[in-house]
Amino acid sequence: MREEVIEKYPFLRAGLRQYFGEGVSLQSFLEENEFYVRKSADFLYSIMNGEDPPFPTDGEERVKNYIITKIILTYIRDYFISARYAIRERKVLYETLEKENDVRNLKSVARELDVDIDKDGGNYLIPIPSFLKNAVVFNDRELKLCNQELKGGNVVASKHVLSKILREAFYRRYMQEVNEVVEFPQGVDELIKPFVGEVISRSREIRQERANLGPLNEKSFPPCLAEIINQMKMGANVSHPGRFFLVTFLHRIGLPNDEIMKYFGKVPDFAEKITKYQIEHITGTGRGREYSVPSCQTLMSLGLCYKERDPLCSSGRISHPLTFYRIKNLGNRAVGNTGSVNRVSKSRKTQEQQAP
Ligand code: SF4
Repeated sequence: MREEVIEKYPFLRAGLRQYFGEGVSLQSFLEENEFYVRKSADFLYSIMNGEDPPFPTDGEERVKNYIITKIILTYIRDYFISARYAIRERKVLYETLEKENDVRNLKSVARELDVDIDKDGGNYLIPIPSFLKNAVVFNDRELKLCNQELKGGNVVASKHVLSKILREAFYRRYMQEVNEVVEFPQGVDELIKPFVGEVISRSREIRQERANLGPLNEKSFPPCLAEIINQMKMGANVSHPGRFFLVTFLHRIGLPNDEIMKYFGKVPDFAEKITKYQIEHITGTGRGREYSVPSCQTLMSLGLCYKERDPLCSSGRISHPLTFYRIKNLGNRAVGNTGSVNRVSKSRKTQEQQAP
């Protein structure tokens, strides 16, 4: 297989054969590539902090980074870290497939991901069970079976739809594989451990910070957020900074993107695709970085603060809407435990932004 194909699709077995080598033990491979182990761990740490580090452009580095990151994720077996990384790979794969013009490459990728495809004129035939297994994206009309042309037990898919199916097949497979239980030999354990300690503790911190906010409770939302939601429910046209604040806040308290989408349902200029893109951009689940929730000071300067509506806000003790939420949600025991509410406070790149 040509080198540039392996570099574009680093998960292909051919890449593994080429850069891992035949008959080489995992321990020797990692020993020889300690440089990439360090780089892959740094890469994961950046992703954990909501940063958007680019994948290496050099072919060998790209493939080795992919292989070693997968080994590290299998070693760590942390769903949260794996998902963050896999979402990045999934996005890049989709963009690459959308630009792919060589049918042989599409077939190689499909074969690797166990998706049977056949060329049918300008389209591709995908067996219905295979299509359904991978068309599980919430709210994506393009992947609904009722919107597909069917032919002899197959979906007649455009390349665009095929790219989405392959993207989902990749993500499903990747998450399954990195979460399998694997016994690593002691030598490998000793090699990886020193590099992944920070990644693991950062993941714990993030989970702890999320847990500190308590379960989702709309009644604990600060007045500024309640006002935006109220306006949206009435069908008013909420400003971009207001929407941005809403998305960052809901994301930060743990709502998945599809739940955040529901808040936009009554907005007059609601366009599902654009809203979905914007939410992905703000939450860092697309290509972008993860944005922080604006502070009270920022919200005040934007005319979005309604502190006079709540005694806690008007007491002057609140400098961040998440602090309000935590105190209301968990009671006063949370007051002395507010600490940093910025989940990505260790990030070098993430900054508070007023609007995307
Ligand atoms: S003080 Fe802060 S939390 Fe309270 S309404 Fe104003 S911006 Fe929102």
